[in-house]
Amino acid sequence: MTTERQPLIAGNWKMYKTQGEARALAREIRQGLNPGARAEVMVAPPYTALAAVAGELAGSPIRLSAQDTFWEGQGAYTGAISPVMLLDAGCHYVIVGHSERRQHFGDTNRDINRKLLAALVAGLVPILCIGETIEERQAEKTLKVVAEQLRDGLAGLPGEARERLVIAYEPVWAIGTGLTATPEQAQEVHAFIRSLLREFLGAAAETTRVLYGGSVTPDNALSLLSQGDIDGALVGGASLKSDSFLKIIAAAG
Ligand code: PEP
Repeated sequence: MTTERQPLIAGNWKMYKTQGEARALAREIRQGLNPGARAEVMVAPPYTALAAVAGELAGSPIRLSAQDTFWEGQGAYTGAISPVMLLDAGCHYVIVGHSERRQHFGDTNRDINRKLLAALVAGLVPILCIGETIEERQAEKTLKVVAEQLRDGLAGLPGEARERLVIAYEPVWAIGTGLTATPEQAQEVHAFIRSLLREFLGAAAETTRVLYGGSVTPDNALSLLSQGDIDGALVGGASLKSDSFLKIIAAAG
């Protein structure tokens, strides 16, 4: 990645960790973090542990994220959480469009766009996840799918929000499978995403971070993060233990 983009290493804890477990993991990460680390660090616990982790991270540079949001501000939407509630719980970031939301909860590109816009209005920084399935890759539709998800996800983006976005390229076939895109495969898609961002965001494309996600581990992090258009990692499994997550943070310099 280029020097003007600070890498972001993001841990998605998915549906793991009780409040006590989440607090303990956050504490280990805070205590183990090298104060000279180049990367910005973020963790995304489940909703129920957000406040506990916010307390544990208070006064540290580690940022808090939610894993999803609803687009409405408030109302009769049983089970849903609004962007303002996430802000109130201490979140800086929110992940939208994770493939597990698309796959298990039916989130469409339109839904994801509404979530992204609502997050921005509330003052959160959305991390928009995009990526192709194995069938789409085999049918050579990767770039088409990624372009559509990006265009639809960013539809109607207000001009002033161009600087407040993170994109995560996560090939679905690499998430939680132990399969990783090769650095070259990932870089090819990241460079394509950057070219689209130049179209959609203009100059802000140069400072927008594009993370890679999909079975990132301490063993493959350095080779992925060394690619010119890979500006950090969205990490699932390897973020659930402090030692592996801290090693990935260290790989970013
Ligand atoms: C993810 O949750 O976004 C992810 C990439 O998971 P894993 O690192 O486990 O593949």
